[in-house]
Amino acid sequence: MKTVLEKNFGFTSFRPNQEEVIESVLQGKDVFVLMPTGGGKSLCYQIPALMMKGTAIVVSPLISLMKDQVDGLLADGISVAYLNSTLSDSEFVEVRKKLTDGKLKILYMAPERLMMPGTLSLLQKINISLFAIDEAHCVSEWGHDFRPEYRKLSELRTHFPNVSMIALTATATERVRKDIVSVLHLKDPVVVISSFNRPNLSYKIIEKKDPNEQIISYLKKNRKKSGIIYCQSRETVERLAERLTKAGFSALPYHAGLADSKRSKNQEKFIRDDVDIIVATVAFGMGIDKPDVRFVIHYDLPKNLESYYQETGRGGRDGLECECILFFNRGDWHKIRFFIEKKPSKKERDLAFQQLSQIMSYCESTECRRNTLLRYFGENWTEPCDNCDSCLRPRKKFDGTAQACLLIDCISQTGQKFGLSHVIDVLYGAKTKKVKEFRHDRLDAHGSGKNYSKDEWKRVGNELIQSGYLSVSGERYPIVKLNEKSRKITAGTLTVELTQPLISHISEAGKK
Ligand code: ADP
Ligand code: ZN
Repeated sequence: MKTVLEKNFGFTSFRPNQEEVIESVLQGKDVFVLMPTGGGKSLCYQIPALMMKGTAIVVSPLISLMKDQVDGLLADGISVAYLNSTLSDSEFVEVRKKLTDGKLKILYMAPERLMMPGTLSLLQKINISLFAIDEAHCVSEWGHDFRPEYRKLSELRTHFPNVSMIALTATATERVRKDIVSVLHLKDPVVVISSFNRPNLSYKIIEKKDPNEQIISYLKKNRKKSGIIYCQSRETVERLAERLTKAGFSALPYHAGLADSKRSKNQEKFIRDDVDIIVATVAFGMGIDKPDVRFVIHYDLPKNLESYYQETGRGGRDGLECECILFFNRGDWHKIRFFIEKKPSKKERDLAFQQLSQIMSYCESTECRRNTLLRYFGENWTEPCDNCDSCLRPRKKFDGTAQACLLIDCISQTGQKFGLSHVIDVLYGAKTKKVKEFRHDRLDAHGSGKNYSKDEWKRVGNELIQSGYLSVSGERYPIVKLNEKSRKITAGTLTVELTQPLISHISEAGKK
């Protein structure tokens, strides 16, 4: 094993868990590997593939990924090829000949290709050393990247009952793990799980106010560093990339709406350090192996904690410091809720809401970010990490009873019939059409809270809701209502602790 590692790959030592996985595969066992991105999953099947008789079949979801992997291995002098729709007829014939002549150690293909009757019968005729299912979480609807083509792999075992299988993923929840084992019919698998902790990544959450300006001011202090900025929509990507370029930074956009050639050119430039910053949608990143990414910024709230972990995981692969900054405000939350409500299937909606609420509590928590994340992935961490905003800049609590009373009073005077934003308009003393229409400008409560900003009121209102001091009802439009607890507050029998807001300047957020 060691010899192959050195001779074929030029590495001197194994990464954590690689040896154990390789040994189990060599013993012909089924293996389930859970390793964070950058943990070194590829070697776990490449080394056994080189050491065993026959050809290893590697299933990988993306054609672009396949080519990179294969080119890399060819450069290391390994007999490897891929089968996919980009091959010309003559290339295809050539690969097939090599395969049937037993000349290939590794063959990559996408799941839909593998499960085609023609491919299956071709593979029946040759000697297969093992099946490696990369990005195995794609079989699970509970993962962040479900791919229906991957589901078909559940029949693989029936076709090749005696070939061992190794499934690899960086997606860690219990549910997805179980799904992978059952869909692929892994037999009594050896389960190898690496810790998901990435100590060199620092996690920060910043209040999103004027994100473009906030980012520019960050970039000014971090010139020439390589980084990724994730945005939710293509439009934001385009706009921000343009804005940054105008401001004198070296940045390019990346999203699925760009022509293929343009997209791969931009990606290539980023990897080769011809450009410092890539502004991208989540389409960017699978299989990107750039070692020196120094920051990963999330302009918008990620879909769920898994995606967040994956996306930040693209930073600091060389083991050096990387700042992971997430911009957060409540407005994004409402936007996402709105999109989720439009999803046609109830199952999908429920899942999306559940994931959203998990990421919301991650953002709003005052606990160590790393511990919260790792706990989500089933690891038990309790010591403060000293490398996240919660640890370095603990948010203090303050007595918010007086503020809570003003808000509760206003809800009561407006008759418990409105959403938070209207109530705040009244508190703040705004003269909107709606305020005038309901004559809420004549209430005592109108303008009673004008000493605080609207943002502050929103924060207070949301925290009161979150902590159960206020209730929300209504199907389509959330209406804020009083409950037992709110009445106790106004009666003076209950006091309220509120959390101080998140910091809104990146440079202040937990710089050591
Ligand atoms: P993953 O698929 O888990 O994200 P990769 O297999 O792409 O990770 O490996 C990530 C990087 O680590 C690659 O650049 C790879 O060459 C490198 N790597 C993997 N194993 C070792 C090792 N034992 N020693 C040094 N570098 C390694
Ligand atoms: Zn921490």
